[in-house]
Amino acid sequence: MAQRLIVIGGDAAGMSAASQARRRRDRGDLEIIVFERGHFTSYSACGIPYWISGLVPGPEALIARTPETFRTEYAMDVRMRHEVTAIDLERREVVARDLKGAGEVRERFDDLMYATGAVPVKPPWAITDAGGVFGMQTLDDGAALRDWLDADPQPRRAVVVGGGYIGVEIAEALIQRGLSVTLVEAGEQPMSTVDSDMGELVAEAMRGLGITIRGSLPVTGLEERDGRVSAVVTAEGPIPTDVVVMGLGVRPNTALAEAAGLPLGPTGAIRVDRRMRVPGHPGVWAAGDCVETLHRVSGLPVHVPLGTHANKQGRVAGINIGGGYATFTGVIGTAVTKVCDLEVGRTGLRERDATAAGFEFVSVIAESTNRAGYYPGARPMTVKLIAERPSGRLLGAQIVGWSEAAKRIDSLAVALWNGMTVDDMTQLDLGYAPPYAPVWDPVLIAARKAVDALAALDR
Ligand SMILES: Cc1cc2nc3c(=O)[nH]c(=O)nc-3n(C[C@H](O)[C@H](O)[C@H](O)COP(=O)(O)OP(=O)(O)OC[C@H]3O[C@@H](n4cnc5c(N)ncnc54)[C@H](O)[C@@H]3O)c2cc1C
Repeated sequence: MAQRLIVIGGDAAGMSAASQARRRRDRGDLEIIVFERGHFTSYSACGIPYWISGLVPGPEALIARTPETFRTEYAMDVRMRHEVTAIDLERREVVARDLKGAGEVRERFDDLMYATGAVPVKPPWAITDAGGVFGMQTLDDGAALRDWLDADPQPRRAVVVGGGYIGVEIAEALIQRGLSVTLVEAGEQPMSTVDSDMGELVAEAMRGLGITIRGSLPVTGLEERDGRVSAVVTAEGPIPTDVVVMGLGVRPNTALAEAAGLPLGPTGAIRVDRRMRVPGHPGVWAAGDCVETLHRVSGLPVHVPLGTHANKQGRVAGINIGGGYATFTGVIGTAVTKVCDLEVGRTGLRERDATAAGFEFVSVIAESTNRAGYYPGARPMTVKLIAERPSGRLLGAQIVGWSEAAKRIDSLAVALWNGMTVDDMTQLDLGYAPPYAPVWDPVLIAARKAVDALAALDR
């Protein structure tokens, strides 16, 4: 008899795992049932801001593989609009509710892939029946916001609450649609994923686009009129609005796992080993935004909900479920984003992470340009490096600048992954031609500056 894999969650982690398992085991050997509570499988949530702005069409363009493709080409039993409501680890069964109203089903499993992703943080004041308040996590969320923006009366004012990268990308999308946008942030400024000196460059660029930034201002409530949101409430008074998008970050979606008794780690996400197995529960796997992973620089467990990790982790789980051997060995915190033409990249530890992890370090900022100064289109680029004292090992890097800034972080990520010192980095053989870099690449200039800073302190 074929064994059975049940997958909870039909997006990046879940479908990567299911596809890899299917590549290794045919339907006679492994039956695969996927439960997805939404309307879509294998979609790019990362593309939602660009769908909201109108830059890319959607939602079809954001879908890599439809449920039908998985059914016909991958021989999977994909059950859409089915929400798993309980996991019985003893009986090795899941219970799922058909959200189309056709009742409940119980299915047994040999292997269980838990890939429920994350849920947007929603403080108690944001729980409301008023229309016009949105979290942003799935294509269904994107579709709901699009519908609201297109419906009559058309919203003119928007408030984005929280300035993480999703808040920043959505603020950009809304301003591009012609709304007047206010971003309200409890911290001093948006983009706390980089240090505040680098975040200020992003805030400046956002103001330049016409986005109003209200920093150090926690939102404490919502006001509504006629069933629609009409303002967000703050200590400095209400900010009138026709639509609110929550960008307060996400937390791992672990409710089902917790209820079933699966172990959570210190970050509140599910604990897994390097093969994506849930410790103490043979045949139970988890991957993606619902799990925690090792930060390779700090050595601490972290919850880093990014698509790049979800896909890799899902693939690892699927290879292992399929009988192969694969591991996911942790992350270093690399991420990129943009606000219109301003690009932002980061990798490794920020100053506050390095301090919390007990490192002694220096940090330097180097101002340069993306191309040779004389070449048309040369624009400023700021590179920040954080290096351990006295070893000089790179601990973290951040870049803010115009074209070619964000993906330059990749060379720094490779250096960091391989434990390079800033001294080693000054020797890096990076490409140079006037359209792509000054003769001293901004990364090399920053590395030299870090070497000088270390020498000044430790000579
Ligand atoms: C607006 C936005 C922009 C982003 N941009 C980037 C980016 O640029 N780069 C990057 O690396 N990452 C980005 N991300 C993050 C990335 O999308 C996520 O990390 C990735 O989708 C996580 O994949 P996942 O499979 O773990 O979870 P999800 O994609 O959240 O999928 C989980 C699925 O499980 C389903 N589900 C949950 N509970 C149940 C249940 N009980 N029963 C059945 N189904 C259930 C959900 O409906 C969902 O479809 C972005 C995310 C958003 C929202």
